[in-house]
Amino acid sequence: GEDGDLLLEIKGLAKHFGGLKALDGVDIAVERGKVHALIGPNGSGKTTMLNVLSGIYRPTRGEVRVDGVKVSGLPPHEIAAAGVGRTFQNIRLFHSLTVFENVVIGAQRPRNPAAATPDQARRRALAALEFVGMAGRADIKVASLPYGHQRLVEIARALAGNPTLLLLDEPAAGLNLTEKQELVGLLKRLAHHGLTLFLIDHDMNLVEQMADRITVLNFGKRIAEGTPAEVLRHPDVIAAYLGE
Ligand code: ADP
Repeated sequence: GEDGDLLLEIKGLAKHFGGLKALDGVDIAVERGKVHALIGPNGSGKTTMLNVLSGIYRPTRGEVRVDGVKVSGLPPHEIAAAGVGRTFQNIRLFHSLTVFENVVIGAQRPRNPAAATPDQARRRALAALEFVGMAGRADIKVASLPYGHQRLVEIARALAGNPTLLLLDEPAAGLNLTEKQELVGLLKRLAHHGLTLFLIDHDMNLVEQMADRITVLNFGKRIAEGTPAEVLRHPDVIAAYLGE
C-alpha cells in the first residue's frame, strides 16, 4: 500500500482486570499489506490484545480502527463482518467434517454480505484452499490431516471470509521447521496480495523472518517498536526477556 495507508490503528488501548492492567495504554499503527508482530514475555498482554481486537473483551479505554472504521466495543461477529479474521493458538476446526466443509463455514459470513450465496461461498472456499495449497485435500476429513495441514486449513477458513485484517495467535506453534518455513512464505504472499497481518508469537527467529515491524509489550505497556533488527537488539527488550 501507499505510505501512511493505515489499516489498523490502536490508540491508548487499555484492558484492566480488576486492579491488574493487562493492557495499559498501548498505541500501534499498522500499514495495509504489512506483517506486524506483537511479542513480549509471558503475561505481557499479547493474548489480551488479540482478544480485545477480535471483540472477545471490551477495552477499558482506548480505540481500535480497522480501515478507518471504529471496531472497539463491537461484539465479535460485528468485528468479523468489519473485515477482521482470526486463527487460534489451538486450532479450532470441525474434525469430523471435510477440509472443504470447514472452509465453506468461513465463507458463509463474508465481509460483503452481497457475496453470500451458497455458490459464491463455495467458490471463495475453493480459492482460499488453492491459495494455501490445500485444494487437493478438499474432500479429506480434517481429523486425518497432519497438524501442519490443519493450520493451513484454519488459515484458509479465515481467508474465505474475505478479511482485510488477519489476526494470528501463535501460528507457528506445533509446526516443524519445514512447515514453519512454508508458513512464513504463505504469510508473506498474503501480505503481498494486500492483506494486513497482525500476529502474536514468542518464537523470535520466526518473528524476525516474517514481520515487517514488531511491537514489544512488557507488563501491558509498549516498550519498543520498529523493524526486527531495531527491536531485537533494543536493550529494554533484551532486559525484559532476561527478566522472564
Ligand atoms: P500473554 O499473552 O502476553 O502471556 P496475557 O494477555 O495472557 O499475556 O495476560 C496479561 C495479564 O493479564 C496477565 O497478568 C494475566 O494473568 C492477566 N489476565 C489475562 N486474562 C485475564 C482474565 N480473563 N482475568 C484476569 N486476569 C487476566
